[in-house]
Amino acid sequence: MSDEIAPPRKPGFDTLAIHAGQEPDPTAGAVAVPIFQTSTYAQEAVGKHKGYDYARTGNPTRTALETCLAALEGGAWGLAFASGMAAADAIAHLLEAGSHVVIADDVYGGTYRLFARVFDRAGIELSPVDMRDGRNVKRAIRKRTKLVWIETPTNPTLKIVDIPAVTEVARAAGVLSVVDNTFASPYLQQPLGLGADLVLHSTTKYIGGHSDVVGGAIVGTDPSLRERLAFVQNAAGGVPGPFDAWLVLRGAKTLALRMERHSDNAMAIAEWLVQHPKVASVNYPGLVSHPGHDVARRQMRSFGGMVSFELTGGEAAAKRAVARTRIFTLAESLGGVESLIEVPLSMTHGSVRGTPLEPPAGLIRLSVGIESIDDLISDLAQAIG
Ligand SMILES: *Cc1c(COP(=O)(O)O)cnc(C)c1O
Repeated sequence: MSDEIAPPRKPGFDTLAIHAGQEPDPTAGAVAVPIFQTSTYAQEAVGKHKGYDYARTGNPTRTALETCLAALEGGAWGLAFASGMAAADAIAHLLEAGSHVVIADDVYGGTYRLFARVFDRAGIELSPVDMRDGRNVKRAIRKRTKLVWIETPTNPTLKIVDIPAVTEVARAAGVLSVVDNTFASPYLQQPLGLGADLVLHSTTKYIGGHSDVVGGAIVGTDPSLRERLAFVQNAAGGVPGPFDAWLVLRGAKTLALRMERHSDNAMAIAEWLVQHPKVASVNYPGLVSHPGHDVARRQMRSFGGMVSFELTGGEAAAKRAVARTRIFTLAESLGGVESLIEVPLSMTHGSVRGTPLEPPAGLIRLSVGIESIDDLISDLAQAIG
C-alpha cells in the first residue's frame, strides 16, 4: 500500500445539494436542519453568544441555506432574501446616486421596474441593450456605469447571452457584473465560474421548486461585496423567515433530479411544437435552430424547462389555448414540479407594456413540469386543437 494521501475529493453537485451547510444538528442529531423559529438568542454575558444575537441579522436555518447555495454556485458566500426582488433591491443599494446601469433589454419585468421606477429617484440611469452582442454592452458603458445586469436565458423569449463575453466587457471597464441565474438554476449554469461577480436567484422558482415559497438569494466570491450586501440585508431587513429558508433548502436537495426531468420534458415538447401545423414559432435554446444554441451548449449543462411559442392564430388563438389545458395550469410564475402555461403580455409582463421589453401579444410561455411527458403533450395537443 502506498503512503500517499489521496487529495480530498471535491464533492459533486448532487452531494453538495444534500449536505452543504447541513450537518446533523448537535442537540439531538436531527438529520434535517431544524427550523429555528426564534426572533432572538440567549447570551451568556453581554455580547457573548454562539454567533447569533437577533434573527434579522442571522438565523441558523438561513445560514444552512446560504452555505448550501454558495456551494451550489461555486461561490464563497451566499445571502438569502425574502424574495428575488429583495435580493435585486440589495444589489441596487450598492450603487451611489447618479450611477448608470447597463441592463439586458428583456430582463425580468420586475427588475426593470425596480431600476426604472424606484431607483430613478436616486438618479440611477438605465440603458437597456441587446446583450446577445457584447459590443452593444461595450458601447453602452459610460464613465458613471457601475453595473452590468445580465439575464440568460431570458424571460419570456429565451434569448441566450454569452456570459464569458459580456462579463469580460464589464471586467475590462471595471464595472460590476451580475447574472440573474433564475431560469437556468445552478445545476445547469454557474455564472461565477464564467466571469460574473454576483449571481442572483429568485429561489421561488427552480431552487424552491414546488410553488410553495417566495425567496431570493445572492451568491459571490469577493468578501468585500459580501460585507456590503450583508450590511444592506441587515439594515433594510428583507430577510426570509426560518420556515421559508427551510422550504428552499428542502427544495434544493432534489434540484439536480428535477432539472434533468424539466429539461428532458421541455426538449420533447419543443420538438413536438416545431412540427405542429398551428405553431408559427418556438423559442427553446435546446433546438439546433435557436440562434443561441451554440452559446447555450458551451455554458449550460442542458437547456432548462422554459419554452415559449406563438400560434398561427395569434393572440386570440393563444388566449383560447391557455384556457383549455387540463394538466398545464393557467398561472404566473415558473420552476415548480407542476406544468404552468400563460400569456406573458397579459399576465407576467403587464408591467412592461409600452416599454422596450414588451413581448409579442400572442406569445405563450410554458413552465414545463416533471409530469409524464405523454400526458403533457396530449394536453397541449387537445388545447391547441
Ligand atoms: C421571479 C423572478 C424574479 C423575481 O423574484 P421574486 O421571487 O418573484 O421576487 C427575478 N428574476 C427572474 C428571472 C424571475 O423569474
